[in-house]
Amino acid sequence: KAPTELNALANEYLRLAYQGLRAKDKSFNCELMTDFTSDLSKVEVVPQEIGRVLLNLYNNAFYAVHEKQKTAPADYQPTVTVSTRFVSASSPERATSITNPNGLGGVVEIRVRDNGAGIPESIKAKIFQPFFTTKPTGEGTGLGLSLSYDIITKGHGGIMAVESREGQGAEFIIELPSSQL
Ligand code: ADP
Ligand code: MG
Repeated sequence: KAPTELNALANEYLRLAYQGLRAKDKSFNCELMTDFTSDLSKVEVVPQEIGRVLLNLYNNAFYAVHEKQKTAPADYQPTVTVSTRFVSASSPERATSITNPNGLGGVVEIRVRDNGAGIPESIKAKIFQPFFTTKPTGEGTGLGLSLSYDIITKGHGGIMAVESREGQGAEFIIELPSSQL
């Protein structure tokens, strides 16, 4: 692990994922939005691993908006938004959140949101399981989220969760322990 600028990492991988998809399909257009907290301290992570998690989330988000676009009205604007936020140890929000190994500090939260079709309530509990996929054969292995979940929880002592309103999109939330107060 090394002290890492998560804003830069999240932004870099967002562009990377988008360019990768655009290289294969020039007609794919998606608005990329960022809402980064500017005074975020560096966070102790394995950058390649967090990058891999973000790539998984971005690719899922792009897939979801791309699918939705096939049946949506012409004015539908596919959008993927990534945001970061620091939640201090003393914030009331931290009561329901993770505890820091050293007892101090807060958490850094990374959110990846899309305005695709969202995740039906009936499958929400399954998406982090290995090999669970709703994608056609060849398009998904069902391993992205389960791997990501392990990297965040076991590898970094963080948490990973999802919020979704059916028909409106999905939002994945990562929280990582930070030594920032
Ligand atoms: P894969 O992408 O190979 O299917 P993942 O583990 O990345 O595997 O995701 C598992 C499943 O979770 C997907 O097949 C899809 O049903 C659902 N899912 C993940 N991300 C999203 C998203 N942003 N919007 C809608 N559904 C999603
Ligand atoms: Mg995936």
